[in-house]
Amino acid sequence: MSESSFVTTSGGQQVLVLREGSTQSRGKRAQNNNIAAAKLVAELVKTSLGPRGMDKMLVDSMGDVTITNDGATMLKEIDVQHPAAKMMVEIAKAVDGEVGDGTTSSVILAGALLGNAEKLLEKGVHPMLIVNGYRKAAHQAQKILDEIAIGVVAEDKATLTKIARTSMASKIVSNDSAELAALVVDALLQVVAKTSEGKDTVDLDNLKVEKKVGGSLKDTSLIKGIILDKEVAHSGMPKRVEKARIALVSSALEIEKTEFDAKLSISNPAQMQQFLDEETKMLKNMVGKVSDSGANVLICQKGIDDMAQHYLAKAGILSVRRVKESDMVKLAKATGARIVNGLDGLSKADVGQAGLVEERKIEDDKWTFVEGCKNPKAVTVFIRGGSQRVVDEVERSMHDAIMVVKDVLENPAIVAGGGAVEEELSYRLKKWSSKLEGREQLAAEQFAIALEAIPQALAVNAGFDPIDIQVDLREKHSAGKIWYGVDVLGTGVRDMLEKDVIEPVGIKEQIIKSATECSCMILRIDDVIASSKKGPSMPPGGMGGPGGMEGMD
Ligand code: ADP
Ligand code: MG
Repeated sequence: MSESSFVTTSGGQQVLVLREGSTQSRGKRAQNNNIAAAKLVAELVKTSLGPRGMDKMLVDSMGDVTITNDGATMLKEIDVQHPAAKMMVEIAKAVDGEVGDGTTSSVILAGALLGNAEKLLEKGVHPMLIVNGYRKAAHQAQKILDEIAIGVVAEDKATLTKIARTSMASKIVSNDSAELAALVVDALLQVVAKTSEGKDTVDLDNLKVEKKVGGSLKDTSLIKGIILDKEVAHSGMPKRVEKARIALVSSALEIEKTEFDAKLSISNPAQMQQFLDEETKMLKNMVGKVSDSGANVLICQKGIDDMAQHYLAKAGILSVRRVKESDMVKLAKATGARIVNGLDGLSKADVGQAGLVEERKIEDDKWTFVEGCKNPKAVTVFIRGGSQRVVDEVERSMHDAIMVVKDVLENPAIVAGGGAVEEELSYRLKKWSSKLEGREQLAAEQFAIALEAIPQALAVNAGFDPIDIQVDLREKHSAGKIWYGVDVLGTGVRDMLEKDVIEPVGIKEQIIKSATECSCMILRIDDVIASSKKGPSMPPGGMGGPGGMEGMD
């Protein structure tokens, strides 16, 4: 693979251009290598697509095991070496970040696009023509999506639940997806807000996801409030307060230490006592201010002095200390309290409300639950499950479900899944591409064919004959049955809209965008120059990719 790092000048002199040990591969060979690597990554995730897809067990260098069906997670955990393969990992990450679901599909699509491009390259079509054809086709695909997407009422619970269920259908949690989908929808409807234009918007900062091994998946619940992974500060305090009135304080309940060293000269024991009494009085005063505000629960972002804890306990005030700032903000949103800095500013109006504040023992930890808030603008999803691996995968699945519901709230249009939308896009793009001129037409046609990789992979994973399915699907779509896809839980090709397998159109847009970008980027490369592994880590030249050749972040 290595070619000489030297060039010879016209005068016969040898000049070292690349650092010793660098490898370079050029032209066709570079292209073939890149495509092969990217296709391999796509093959790797293909078997996990859809409800009949299998999970992957990944073992990292530390021996930690992750079991997952989530495309982004799979690729994050595998230590991919080849720079082109790394780009595939990047698109999975990009899709995960933008829309949250559809990561496996985007990688499969990128792999299919590159595979089809390879066929054209072999026939001598210039890569730039393929890139142009692909870009045009992707643009047209977005237009078609706009045309065929079905507008929905954004806050319609039934639709949202179906969408959440579709995204969870391919995960370990699919058996419990009815309850979990309802839970996700309730959580999001609780925190959804309106933009100035009257559109729905969801800030995921207002949705806390806590997980803890123990119990079973069925114990997973929606807390109308916030869970704090902190115990009540003092054993003498109440552990349960109903109809809680909550004060949120961001400063410490301690006597401030001076910045400089101060010396105190005491000549007799009485003076010492006087000094201590003064401190006690100050702390007592602070606690008095909390009681005056009417609060029976105090949540403090900083520390609470032992003596202050004692007086708070005496006053029957449940207190929690050293709470994270982000949790303080969520608490304010959930309870309607205002965070005050310094107790002097604390008034009755700053105190928030919750139905119940209680310390509970969750496995080995004591956590404080602030729940039963009236119309909270921040809530917590509390995930339970039999083992750490289950809890972790449930969290990932919930993340996907939360994201798809958010997507459809913010952009209320849907399409049918099960490969139906991909097949319809493929059908319409083929027709459209015939109107293009020259070699771009060939590329656009290959783009259309690549989209069929999704229904094909679903069919293969379900154990169906992919050729039969392809023929059947093409026939249905040419007859105008646009939502026919692969019913992997049934027996073949069905109307997926009737099967309630629906997805936000935003996800499909993102999948096409990311897969096209990635495949075009790889196609444009005709030179890979990789510096040697030795020495300070340098980015692989020419790839423009971040990081060296070693492990990924
Ligand atoms: P991704 O990471 O791309 O979301 P998934 O493994 O979650 O991959 O699979 C998603 C695919 O499975 C989508 O194409 C979706 O339409 C399809 N799917 C989900 N539920 C069903 C179902 N009941 N029947 C057929 N296809 C389904
Ligand atoms: Mg999915």
